[in-house]
Amino acid sequence: MSKNTNAGNALRNTTRSTSIAGLIASLLTASLLATSTLFAPPSSAQQDNCFGGNDLALVNGNIHTLDESNTVATSVLVRNGEILHLAGTDYQTSSCTDVIDLDGRTVIPGLIDNHVHFVRIQNRPGYDTREIESTFSTAEVLATISSKSESVPQGELITGIGGFITAQWAEGRFPSMAELDQTAPDHPVYLSAFGFGPGQTNTAGRDLINSLGGKVNLDGSIASREDTALAYEVLAASIDDSHRERQLADVIGWANKVGLTTVMDMSGTVPGVGFLDQRTGYNPIVKMARENRLNLRTRLYFPALDEDAELSQLQGRLDNSFNNFGSDMLRTVGIGEWSVGRTLFNQQPLSEAAANAQRRIAERGWAYHQHLHSPEEFDAHLDIWESLDPEFDLSSLRWTAGHMSGVTPELVKRIVALGLGIGAHGQPILRPSGDAGGPPWRTIIESGAVALGGGSDGARISPFNPWSMIYYMVTGVNAQNKLVNDGQQITRQQALKLYASAQQGWFTGEDTKLGGIAIGRFADLVVLNKNFFDKELVPDNEIRSMQASLTIVGGRIVYTDGTLAIP
Ligand SMILES: [Zn+2]
Repeated sequence: MSKNTNAGNALRNTTRSTSIAGLIASLLTASLLATSTLFAPPSSAQQDNCFGGNDLALVNGNIHTLDESNTVATSVLVRNGEILHLAGTDYQTSSCTDVIDLDGRTVIPGLIDNHVHFVRIQNRPGYDTREIESTFSTAEVLATISSKSESVPQGELITGIGGFITAQWAEGRFPSMAELDQTAPDHPVYLSAFGFGPGQTNTAGRDLINSLGGKVNLDGSIASREDTALAYEVLAASIDDSHRERQLADVIGWANKVGLTTVMDMSGTVPGVGFLDQRTGYNPIVKMARENRLNLRTRLYFPALDEDAELSQLQGRLDNSFNNFGSDMLRTVGIGEWSVGRTLFNQQPLSEAAANAQRRIAERGWAYHQHLHSPEEFDAHLDIWESLDPEFDLSSLRWTAGHMSGVTPELVKRIVALGLGIGAHGQPILRPSGDAGGPPWRTIIESGAVALGGGSDGARISPFNPWSMIYYMVTGVNAQNKLVNDGQQITRQQALKLYASAQQGWFTGEDTKLGGIAIGRFADLVVLNKNFFDKELVPDNEIRSMQASLTIVGGRIVYTDGTLAIP
């Protein structure tokens, strides 16, 4: 029998209370029980007492909590999906604790995308290959497709649609039809930049799309816009909900692999590849959540696209949806990224109809996240928000200005004065050079805003991969290797905080649970495959290929690369 005391075991044997009084009582009990040994293998009798499942301890690590004082802990204990304990030195574990020895590895909180069009990826035809976003030469594209083909049934279509441009590849072009034929001889392949083209197929891909009524050129190329839209239309015609579930599960597997544990979803309002049916489009993800098969926390914002004063879509949503309802894995959280259609949105100052839409969202107490780029767009919305704020306290409703690429320092001050959140998204990373750079990261970070959140706006006009965004924040360099956001670069620590600190919880009203690593918060943790904070080990260019070695969502291991011993 060991002399070690054990708080974790004592808590299990008494109550699950995490109150201070409960903790003290448990510690007293622990000294009497003294039943456990560090790393001792449990007997079956002991295991039987592990009510509610084993705890999980990560020990001997560098655990970056991303709290205000940048605390780095060496161990963390997880119970019932939440962080139970953090320690500067290793603490004793019980027979009911699964222990993972990190051997000095770097741990960060799970990454959170503040604005992404995740659910609509279910509608991509074939087997979506998100990894193509993070390739930088045609050789890497081919290697990625080759590796994907090993897990895709023979004859099935492999796709890479949106989230990349050909200019990010060293050769500045698609792999040729012959190269794709050689790489994937048993699969049709279809790649499409941005999601609106241009595109490229292999021979089987060309023949498949043409046989369905599409328009692919002899060399496998597909022109942007019209022909690309047609290719999507003919390929997507046969998609059903089992396809959508499989696609979501695949993309979640990839997301967990790059360390994402939560997404704030902005639905889909663009025809074709950018669309999500508001009546039936959420059925697959709801089913997955009900069946406990969702490994990525998803927070849903609903769009409204009314173009007249009736605002019937918005009103229908406000009247018929439960605000802030769901489980820890899937919740409805707000209206966004549109409150009216594009025609009304583009009238600045805002029309009475658009202003009324803002008022109705506030009256019903919903959170709201609005797409804003140009100074005129900000100015028009801030005018209305400033007039509504005395009545509704928009900060308490978690209203948020999203995107931020065209914001000026003066407009940032107006947002901060209202106490609104700022969702800063590296969406311009794929834009042709000459366009505006990204959000003014540095200005935003120094603004004193109540909450800052990083995101991608992926996975169509920008990449979904959080490490592409973090690279862009840190370097100011876009996908074409051009320095476009000079003077607004931020440190690696600041960039990570935008993606993973407790501030991300503000946006969805989950201030006490979501983001960061601290006692009582969701146990969403990522063991990185390399020490991101070491610039020699991970030069700037390699930030984009960072991955997880282990990803944990709600205390559950959802991804491992096999390099850590898992009990
Ligand atoms: Zn968006």
